[in-house]
Amino acid sequence: MLSVMPKKIDDGSLVGYILRLTARNGFQMPLDWINEAQLKASINNTLSIKQVSALNEFFPVTHSLKYLSSRRHSALFQNYHIETPRVCPICIRDTGYIKEEWRYIGNLKCSIHDVGLIDVCHLCNHKLEWSINLLEGICTNEMCSCSLKSEPLNNALECLFIDEICDCLLADFVYSHPYNTYWPNLSHPNSENLLTATSKGYDLLNCDFKRWIELYDAQSNPFNALAVKFKYFPLYHLAHSLQNEWLFSEQLKKLTASTSSPTKQLFNLSSYVVTAESAMTILGLSKHEIISYSPEAKNKKVIPSRLRINIAPIIKATKVTK
Ligand SMILES: [Zn+2]
Ligand SMILES: [Zn+2]
Repeated sequence: MLSVMPKKIDDGSLVGYILRLTARNGFQMPLDWINEAQLKASINNTLSIKQVSALNEFFPVTHSLKYLSSRRHSALFQNYHIETPRVCPICIRDTGYIKEEWRYIGNLKCSIHDVGLIDVCHLCNHKLEWSINLLEGICTNEMCSCSLKSEPLNNALECLFIDEICDCLLADFVYSHPYNTYWPNLSHPNSENLLTATSKGYDLLNCDFKRWIELYDAQSNPFNALAVKFKYFPLYHLAHSLQNEWLFSEQLKKLTASTSSPTKQLFNLSSYVVTAESAMTILGLSKHEIISYSPEAKNKKVIPSRLRINIAPIIKATKVTK
C-alpha cells in the first residue's frame, strides 16, 4: 500500500485520484509506480480483474465502471470520453481534484463556472497531459507551466447535445482531411482541441458552405475531374452520416441540382478506396459490381460493411452521367 491515502471524492475520476496519489506520495508521475496499460485502463475505466488486483496492492480500487453506450452517436469514434485530460481550471484550483464528468464530450462547459472545459493550454497550445501539475491548474507543458485559463463558450455551442457535438466533430474531421474517401474507426475522440473543433464544425455545418466548395473545386482535389458523385463524395458521405438536420445538407442538395459532371473523366485514376457500405448506400453500386471488381469481396456471402474496396476500375468503366 502507498503510505499517503487522500480521501476519495464521489465525482472524482479514477485517473485524477491516481494523480493525487502520485503527488501526495512524492512521485513525479503516475508511471513511476504503475504501468502504462494500468494507467490507460484507469483513464478509460476499463480495468480488468487482474489489473484491479494489481492496483489493489497500492490502493483500494473500487472503480469498475464500464462505458457501454447502447447507441452510436458518431461515425468516427465509438466512445464519447476523451483519453486526454479536459478540465475546468477554476474548479481545480478551488478543489484540487479532477472530475470524471469532464472526460465526457457531451459536457462542453463547467456547470459551476460557465467556462469551457479545456484540453489544451490557452497560452502554449499544448495538449494537456495526465501530470500532477494538473492538480494545481497548471499547464502540463513544463516549458510553459502557466496558470491555465478558460473562457465562456459562445451561445450557439452552449446548447449542443451529444449527437450535435459528434456531427460538428465529424464535419471538422472531414474538412481537415478533405480527400479521405474512407474514415478511420477510432476508439475515442482525438481532436487536437475539442472546443475549437466543435466550433469549427458547427460553422461548417451552418453557414460556411462556400468553404467546402472551394476545397472540392480546387485543383488539389485528386478527384476534381471525376463525375459529381465521386468528386464531392466526401460531402455526400458526411451528409449521409450526420444525425441532425443542418443547413449543410440543404446546400449540398442545391449544389447537386445545379452542377453537371464533366463530359470526360480522368483516365489515370488508379485508386479510389471506399468502404463497401459507402459504395452501396452512397454511390449506388450493386453487390454484384463490388464482388466482380474487389478481390477482397470475392466468394463472400456477406460483405462486411467496413470492407475497403478500390472502386477506381468501376469508376473508369462507368459512363459519365450526372
Ligand atoms: Zn468549474
Ligand atoms: Zn502552456
